[in-house]
Amino acid sequence: MLSVKDLQQYYGGSHILRGPAFEARVGEVTVVLGRNGVGKSTLLKCLMGLVPLRGGSIALDGAAIEALPPYVRVRRGVGYVPQGREIFGRLTVEENLRMGLASQPAGTPIPAELFELFPVLKQMLGRRGGDLSGGQQQQLAIARALAANPKLLLLDEPTEGIQPSVIKDIGRVIRKLAARRTMAIVLVEQYVDFAAELADHYLIMERGEIVQRGHGADM
Ligand code: ATP
Ligand code: MG
Repeated sequence: MLSVKDLQQYYGGSHILRGPAFEARVGEVTVVLGRNGVGKSTLLKCLMGLVPLRGGSIALDGAAIEALPPYVRVRRGVGYVPQGREIFGRLTVEENLRMGLASQPAGTPIPAELFELFPVLKQMLGRRGGDLSGGQQQQLAIARALAANPKLLLLDEPTEGIQPSVIKDIGRVIRKLAARRTMAIVLVEQYVDFAAELADHYLIMERGEIVQRGHGADM
């Protein structure tokens, strides 16, 4: 379980995160909604340790992780898919997936289940990441984050710029992952219909604060 309390973050003089607090449980999808610039990506970056936190606490299964650098958080089971499909364009699909295993002991194989979740990647192992379509790159980015079998999966707008059929594929994968009950999923999403289909819980942010929250069924 992820437990987040009173996060504080500033960029320059601007107060970007003003104390968001929530919990995310294994097997559940927590959707974070809000307009552009309210701090959704900053929230996920703080959970991943990519920007230094100026206050508050983050615990994973009861252990504080807010002081740990990103690579240690990965080892502790945090998986992150940033906004904008960051994959290694010059590396092959297979090499990209192996990057997702960098925190694991040497020689750890790519889990076969990744290809069950993303069949399209299986036929493309030797292709360069940069030659995939946007939707395929997004699937690769998610598969890479899943390679190390995280207990917390952070997804930052996986539907951005993606056509409806691939959005459906990604939705199916998220639902399957939640049903396995091995990970908590925090999904930042602007596409409300997609969010409503997946959410067990939702949080709405405004100016760095959570201003509304509830059960997905009530969205
Ligand atoms: P979007 O829906 O557009 O992705 P968001 O809710 O994810 O928006 P953030 O990316 O978290 O918003 O940005 C929150 C605020 O912090 C914005 O005003 C943004 O301009 C600012 N910001 C983000 N990153 C930086 C940075 N590295 N330096 C300075 N300001 C930043
Ligand atoms: Mg964002």
